[in-house]
Amino acid sequence: MTTADQSTPPQCPRCNGPLALFDGDTGGRSRATPGRSVEVCGLCCQSEAILAAAGVELVPPAEWPVPANTLVVWPTGAGSAG
Ligand SMILES: [Zn+2]
Repeated sequence: MTTADQSTPPQCPRCNGPLALFDGDTGGRSRATPGRSVEVCGLCCQSEAILAAAGVELVPPAEWPVPANTLVVWPTGAGSAG
């Protein structure tokens, strides 16, 4: 497999992870930014949505990056051990 474009994949400014988690992933926009002007990865977008729904104050962009291991994601359900 060859790829003509060897440029670095875009990074999520919130967790410093890859912005696209799979081919075609467009991530989302951070609700912690004015007008949701900053694009973040899907995990960060989901994490912010969950925290916002829970009434937790979101980490402001000035304090990014947020460690990826603190992201809140939906439990995957079946087969999860611990
Ligand atoms: Zn992220």
